[in-house]
This record gives sequence, structure tokens and C-alpha cells, in this order.
Amino acid sequence: MLKVTEKPGIISFAGGLPSPQTFPIEAFADACEKVLRGGGVDSARASLQYAASEGYRPLCEWVAASLPWDVSPDQVMITTGSQQGLDLVAKVLIDEGSRVLVETPTYLGALQAFTPMEPQIVGVASDAEGVDVDDLEGKAAPTLRTGASVTPEGPRFLYVLPNFQNPTGRSMSEARRAALVARAAAIGLPLVEDNPYGDLWFDHPPPPPLTARNPEGCIYLGSFSKVLAPGLRLGFMVAPKAIMPKLLQAKQAADLHSPSFNQRVVAEVLKDGFLDRHVPTIRALYKRQCHAMLSALRTEMAGLDVQWNEPDGGMFLWVRLPEGMNATELLPKAVEHGVAFVPGSAFYADHADPRTLRLSFVTATVEQMGVGIAALARAIREQHGA
Ligand code: PMP
Repeated sequence: MLKVTEKPGIISFAGGLPSPQTFPIEAFADACEKVLRGGGVDSARASLQYAASEGYRPLCEWVAASLPWDVSPDQVMITTGSQQGLDLVAKVLIDEGSRVLVETPTYLGALQAFTPMEPQIVGVASDAEGVDVDDLEGKAAPTLRTGASVTPEGPRFLYVLPNFQNPTGRSMSEARRAALVARAAAIGLPLVEDNPYGDLWFDHPPPPPLTARNPEGCIYLGSFSKVLAPGLRLGFMVAPKAIMPKLLQAKQAADLHSPSFNQRVVAEVLKDGFLDRHVPTIRALYKRQCHAMLSALRTEMAGLDVQWNEPDGGMFLWVRLPEGMNATELLPKAVEHGVAFVPGSAFYADHADPRTLRLSFVTATVEQMGVGIAALARAIREQHGA
């Protein structure tokens, strides 16, 4: 489907690619030079050598110091993107037939990471503020009947994206975070918190992460993809000390370690508060793009029963089509009109809502936004009337 949507001439709101305008090319050029020539030949050679599975120590230290709770660098593992963090969590925590809870909807890449371990993935009801804590209690019950099968033990974890979620763009309120962490702790349910978008807020930073409230009950995943560049394939995982040996074993089996050179270059780029200067430029760009998309939606969808949310950050917003419509069926018509999106059904563990779709507001330019949303509105009108 992504191949179709990336055809030349199509305005794509489909992909989850950060804007390449934000990649700090000069900072990387300087950092590469420093890593290869700035520290003597031994340091240059080390950057090209095999290295520790945990990650480059100065980078682990930077990660630990950057987080708003007490984290030891020994609890940090550098991963090959946060996507690898999801894969390692799946390998260590999931057995065939065990239950895993996710939000409704949730990140497709997480469903893909969990599925090979053959768990029973159960969606927890969610609203504009995130996970419905009462529904969670029911879905986390020790014995749960879903369809024909019964899982005889509690879930292994709840996977949750509190900030500018992929795919919906929604964020959890402070009250909901507090309630979720308290309920999860009370029933002994581990949380896997994925936070690649938390720094991409428009006007106000989101409330503190779930993990900050109960570090022993959570695994936290972070990423350099959205604040530096995704091609580096660097992310990180923070986990309770007791589980680190198992995660490290899985990491060693997967790829021994994340690229030494990339880690040292990123550690060099991050020196002297680089992100404090760089990330505000990403926030400003994405905020402008989001506002352009929202304004085009208001104009072009007038008179149509189409709903959407207004995110406070991140890269995505979530649209619900008029009653009776199906986003997967709409896509070919939209592509005919020159615009692409991702149908929402890909993001559900169960009970997909066929009316939903995801729009990315960061890849298309502000100039393309009006044209693309107008094309989408035309496709909806045609399909709706059909
Ligand atoms: N989690 C979420 C919610 C994402 O949206 C993405 C990227 N699309 C990832 C994890 C993986 O990111 P990366 O591996 O580049 O860190």
C-alpha cells in the first residue's frame, strides 16, 4: 500500500517520515569529523570496532541524565531504534498464548513486533485522554475469555503511548496518567511506555512520563529518530535493573550492539545542549504544518460529517469518516485524486473502526496541504454519494 501512496505526483499524508528539513546535517558533518579525527587514532578505531551491547557509555549517561526521574546509566540500553526495543521486550516478556494489552488503536509497528511471539493481543478501550482505566481492570483480570480461548493468567504488560500517540496524535491527561499508573501498580501490571514523540510538543510540554511515577513497574522506550534523524537507527530502553540481564541477552542475540560509530557521532552531536537549540525548530515547523492541515480540513470538509482531533504535538492526526464509509475502500479513490493516507484499521488489535484514518502533517509541505486535503474531500464526497 505504501508503494501505491508513494507514486510520483501523489501528496502523501500516509508515511510516518519525519521532515527531512529538520535533519541537522552540519552538526553531523562536524561530529563525524570529531569522532574520526578529534580524539586520536585509538578513539577513531574504537568508533569502527565492535562494542559493548549495553551501548556507548557516554551516550547511556546522557540518556540517564536527560530523563526526569532518577535513572542510573546501568539501567539504560542503547537500541537499534526504539523499534528494536519493542522486539526485545516481545522476546523477553511474551510467550505463545500469553496476553498482551494495547491501547485502541495503537502503533502498528508494536503489533508487528509482538505478533511473532504469538500472544493474544487484547485492545483496551481508549478515549481522547488515552486508556480507559476501568476497561483496563476487566481486560487485565487473571482469567479472560476472548472468543474461543481463555488465558489463564494476567497479561504480561500494557503497551502504552502517552504522548502524541501514533496513530491518533492524542495525549494522556495528567489525571489519566496518575490513575493508570496507580491502577497498574495495584494489580501488578507492568507498563511498556513508548515515547518517541514526547519532545515534539507545540506550546506546552506534556505531563511527566508514566515511568517517572513508578520506575520499577515500567519499561521506557525512547528514540533519536524524531529529534535527530531516523536513518541513524538509534533509540534507547530504560528498564528495572532486575530485567536488564535478560534484555541484554536478547540484544546480543539480535545484533550484538547498535552501531558504534553512530552512537559516538550522536554523543558528540548532543554535547553542549544541542537539542535545546535544535528541537524548538522542529516544534515550530510541525506546529505550522499541523495548523495548515487543520485549517484546510475546516475549509474543505465543511458540510461533511467528518471528525478529526487537534493534536498538541507529534506528527499525526486522526480522522473519522461519515457513517457507513470505509477508509480502506476510500483509499484507491483518494489515490486517483492524488492524495494518500493510512486507513485506521491497520492500527487495531481487534474490533477495528473502519471509518478511521491517519494523516501525517509533517511530510507534505504547507503549500501541498490545502491541495491534498481538498483532493481528500473530493474523494469523500464522491464515495459518500456513490
Ligand atoms: N514507536 C512508535 C510509536 C513509532 O511511531 C515509531 C516510529 N514510527 C517507533 C516506535 C520506532 O521508531 P525508531 O525505531 O525509529 O526509534
